Amino acid sequence: MRNHKISLKEIVSYAKKYGFIFPTSEIYDGINAIYDYGPYGIHLKNNIKEYWWRSMIQINENIIGLDTSILMHPKIWKASGHAERFKEIFLYNKSKNYSYRIDFLLEQIFKPNSKGDNSLCKKLWQIKTKKNNLKKRIIQYIDDNIVLKKYKKILVLVKKFKQINKKKVQYKWNYIYEYKLMFQIYFKKQTIYLRPETAQGIFTNFLNVQNSRKLKIPFGIAQIGKVFRNEIMARQFIFRMREFEQMEMQFFIHHKDEEKWFKYWKNKRLIWHLTIGLGEKKYRYFEHEQLAHYAKQAYDIQFNFPFGFKELEGIHSRRNFDLKKHEKYSKKKLRVFDKENQSYYIPYIIETSVGIDRIFLAILSSSLKIEFLKQQAKRTVLKINPYLAPIKAAIFPLIQDKRLIAYAKYIFTSLKSSFLLTYEENDSIGKRYRRQDAIGTPICVTIDFKTLKDKCVTIRYRDSMLQKRVLIKNLKQEIKQETSINKLLTKFFMLASTK
Ligand code: ATP
Repeated sequence: MRNHKISLKEIVSYAKKYGFIFPTSEIYDGINAIYDYGPYGIHLKNNIKEYWWRSMIQINENIIGLDTSILMHPKIWKASGHAERFKEIFLYNKSKNYSYRIDFLLEQIFKPNSKGDNSLCKKLWQIKTKKNNLKKRIIQYIDDNIVLKKYKKILVLVKKFKQINKKKVQYKWNYIYEYKLMFQIYFKKQTIYLRPETAQGIFTNFLNVQNSRKLKIPFGIAQIGKVFRNEIMARQFIFRMREFEQMEMQFFIHHKDEEKWFKYWKNKRLIWHLTIGLGEKKYRYFEHEQLAHYAKQAYDIQFNFPFGFKELEGIHSRRNFDLKKHEKYSKKKLRVFDKENQSYYIPYIIETSVGIDRIFLAILSSSLKIEFLKQQAKRTVLKINPYLAPIKAAIFPLIQDKRLIAYAKYIFTSLKSSFLLTYEENDSIGKRYRRQDAIGTPICVTIDFKTLKDKCVTIRYRDSMLQKRVLIKNLKQEIKQETSINKLLTKFFMLASTK
């Protein structure tokens, strides 16, 4: 059996053809970087959410859930720093008619082989001691000037860097501009925002949650919800969208335990991803040098998408940045009592934040296979974890015979309250198998003439294509064993408790 390497283009057309993802408002020519989830996509997406939710809320007795609103008081975004700092800085290049995001440009500048950075930098910025980390200092320099809106200073720096690399002398940087990432709407004559992250709803409810549940540090609050970012460079299908969903967990701790919990969640979140079964080599950690305004320590878990390793999840130590700011802006105390010192303090926060849509893309891009079988036959098969599969089992009568149809429908009806199933009787059995393979259905159940006598059905497994006879009375157990979330949760729990 040979395999064909799948491109992003193939994934996009597969997702549309098989009802996973559609471009939004397509009959009106769509809106760039906004997508709708189709009849199979919605199940896969819900299954990802359910797995994350249960691994947080069910497996950890000190993590509870929350569902806060998308529209919040505009002061929240002033306090959080988003109103001022949640923007991207771009350099416009007229000769190319193209805008470059400054952080992406920096990545290019700092490529290991780019020549001459050091000597130029010394001239430009009079670095005095060898001990200082040059790269970090340049990033800091750019950051500081961005805040002060001294864009000309940055422009000079970038221009000079570019000139070192002779091939790029032709680049003409025309101007630098900022682009705000929060969507604004108007409410009673004031501007309010569509939230760009779910975290702030957790912070602003911190006291409500703590008082209503009498939680003691350390504890976590988890939330799944839609967020909106007016991404200027929205590309790569559902990887970078303007409306997407996040699964965030904020873990409140005593500051002396920062290192311990940061390490803990960095480790646990990678284990969670690994249990989905896309392969260890697809993941890697990436330590941030350029930190978000709220973060003191940050790691990404990156995934090897069809366009290379990119951020899948962020693990950040937000320290007490957010609660401190909300205390200041709301004038309400957001503190917990420390029995040991008999005083109140603002807890530190470790955040884990992941986009569902990116997990979805990671799953599609690694699990979609075109397999070349014997006799020039080929099949499209989505080899996803059986729990994540949109449909758990398909029930078929072997042919369109009245008795087989009645029996198959009886089995379908008796199992449908336990699993999401599908029933099919059109086309040959081979074609029906292919259709189910393509949407990732782990089990097909066929009722044939022998069933009428021996009360057994044929089960056919998606990945191995092996078949076996199973007594009808054992069918429910068989499907449950293969597809239940408990199997996945147990695997996660076992791995997370040992590693
Ligand atoms: P990037 O550097 O790729 O823009 P980010 O660092 O801004 O991402 P965070 O603010 O840390 O991302 O958001 C947490 C998670 O939300 C990310 O790890 C990612 O999975 C997801 N995410 C962020 N932006 C988008 C987007 N535009 N579309 C889809 N998912 C996103």
